[in-house]
Amino acid sequence: MTELPTGPETDDSTPVNDNAGATVIDRSDHSISRRRIPENVLKVLYRLHRSGYRAYLCGGSVRDLLMNRQPKDFDIATDAHPGDIRRLFRNSRIIGRRFRLVHIIFQDQIVEVATFRREPERSSTDEENEDFLITDDNTFGSPLQDAKRRDFTINALFYNIADFSVIDYVGGLEDMRQKRVRMIGDPDVRFREDPVRMMRAIEFASRLGFEIEQATYDAVLRHRNEILKASPPRVSEEILELLRRGWSREAIRRMVDSGLLEPLLPEVYGAIAGERAPYFWKMLEVLDRTVQAGRKITDAVLLSVLMLPWVVAELEREEHRRESRMRIAEVLTFIRDLVQPLCARMALAAGTRHQIEQALETLWRLLEPPSDRRAQFRAVHREPFNDALALLELYALSSGRYVEQYKQWHHFAQRARREGEVAQQPVRRRRRRR
Ligand code: ATP
Ligand code: MG
Repeated sequence: MTELPTGPETDDSTPVNDNAGATVIDRSDHSISRRRIPENVLKVLYRLHRSGYRAYLCGGSVRDLLMNRQPKDFDIATDAHPGDIRRLFRNSRIIGRRFRLVHIIFQDQIVEVATFRREPERSSTDEENEDFLITDDNTFGSPLQDAKRRDFTINALFYNIADFSVIDYVGGLEDMRQKRVRMIGDPDVRFREDPVRMMRAIEFASRLGFEIEQATYDAVLRHRNEILKASPPRVSEEILELLRRGWSREAIRRMVDSGLLEPLLPEVYGAIAGERAPYFWKMLEVLDRTVQAGRKITDAVLLSVLMLPWVVAELEREEHRRESRMRIAEVLTFIRDLVQPLCARMALAAGTRHQIEQALETLWRLLEPPSDRRAQFRAVHREPFNDALALLELYALSSGRYVEQYKQWHHFAQRARREGEVAQQPVRRRRRRR
């Protein structure tokens, strides 16, 4: 490991010393092997390097490779400008209006290449207004600046194709050893610039089994209400990221404990906080196991799981108020009226909203076994059936309620599908003998 002296920070993108201020880990002292990097990604790295540019693997891929995990995607950072990159790769196109990236398109993969950039300058009027939200994102910078504009130290490591070393400007390797998610720079400033980073801190901690470093966590507690300033579609996408990939229980627990869930989804928070719905946590556990086993769960089901304790509680309250059980038609209208405003606030796509309503409504239909076989057959072939059945499965397995209904429907669906397949098989024509 070579410690290099801290060099002067330059304003342009040509630093005095290549790796000034960085810790450089030689290829023999880290575990990243080129065999784990896809061929296309290596191709891009090598061509940039041979053309005289710096070419670094960056972001999540370096973090995951160092931790022996499979990276989701392999991003590249370079000092070549978008036009230069475009010229080097025929199969490329420039994308993005604010910060222009280059996509290099291969048959089965897109490799994203970005020019090193720095944190955009804030004008003094912005600071007076205390408006820290980033608005302009398009300034090229040095590798050091590029590392510093990233969110957490573990996400700011570079893998240099020139000598296969890992370059660490921000103490990410030490934080990785200590299993810490630490914000780069002043967490108060960085969370105010982009409140979604608070949710990302929770995501990475849950996913990697890390702790959020104390100063970073304290800042989350101070700024949690500012999550409402973030754009709803980005927040909803991040909620889905928390639910999608097998660490939802841990992540939602942390969302509750850090106080982030309460301002964001007060309805949901009210229904699950203080162990009000113990089955909910069990349901997330079952969901995580299901996802880890490789089964695809739709976004509509994921969000329905999150909303379910609230919907159940509201329905129970309504029935209590009416002092009678609601008929199925009333239940359906009630669910729709309940869920619609929340979906709108979350700025969910129209298709997803519709699927959530349908999944929840159909779930309630499945709680009552239909009377005749034809109705059953129709139900199984209706589109929301699969979502509703997945939801019923999660609900039954975790709450111990409606297990019988789930079994019946599951069994029935299998049979109906088999019959359906048989019915749809093309009739084979006999080959005529000559
Ligand atoms: P994943 O494995 O989920 O893709 P990732 O670390 O690659 O994780 P991305 O969302 O793909 O995360 O972002 C790529 C990189 O861009 C991050 O590693 C981080 O360095 C930087 N980054 C992403 N979002 C932010 C943000 N909101 N603020 C600062 N830097 C960010
Ligand atoms: Mg990524």
